Amino acid sequence: MKYVRFKKDNFCSYGLLEGEKVKVIEGDIFKDYSVTGRCYDIDEIELLTPCVPSKIVCVGLNYKAHARETNMPLPQEPLIFLKPPTAALAHKGNIIIPAVSGRVDYEAELALVIGKTAKNVKPEDALDYVLGATCLNDVTARDLQKKDGQWTRAKSFDTFAPMGPYIVTGVDYNNLDIELVLNGEIKQKSNTSCFIAKAHQIVSYVSRIMTLDPGDVIATGTPSGVGPMKKGDVVEVRLEGVGVLKNYVE
Ligand code: MG
Repeated sequence: MKYVRFKKDNFCSYGLLEGEKVKVIEGDIFKDYSVTGRCYDIDEIELLTPCVPSKIVCVGLNYKAHARETNMPLPQEPLIFLKPPTAALAHKGNIIIPAVSGRVDYEAELALVIGKTAKNVKPEDALDYVLGATCLNDVTARDLQKKDGQWTRAKSFDTFAPMGPYIVTGVDYNNLDIELVLNGEIKQKSNTSCFIAKAHQIVSYVSRIMTLDPGDVIATGTPSGVGPMKKGDVVEVRLEGVGVLKNYVE
């Protein structure tokens, strides 16, 4: 299934995408809901971020080739950090380059959307707590990341967490082709089978630190090939069976 969240005139709702049609959902996709008979063409609605996370948890250095290109040692445990929910940006939204940074990079990532409250879950049960997957661009002010020594400022600017366009259920999170395309040119290309920590291990690990709530997002790390974006660029995160997240750089 493909869940969307959308706006039409002054009306916001979740919906179920079927082909080019979005069926309006009544209720909350994380609790009880029903699919109504009302629908819109996807072209006549504005897609919003597919969920409203209370937190965006990110894994750093989860592909060996990316750790190598950044000259960072491989982490012994998943290396996690947070992006604030205010960084979230919808499909087709504008990424704003802050004046204080001279280098802002794209990072294509698979994001897991939590479906039900998870605390201290075992790896073998962890995926029961995941509703589905979406695409995420872990936009990073690389110069500030190096300068600050820790990553909060570099990762947290408004618009630095584009996500969407849908939440897709029933895909194998640990075996999906992932690509980053900048102005039509492939810059990153890998498969999530190259994860160091697998999806279920990440969810379990994070749930032992903080309670994960429905709608929370976990970004699973980026493959090698990260690089800068500039004003006027069009950036896409493409995930097999999950979708294409497209954003513009302003
Ligand atoms: Mg990242």
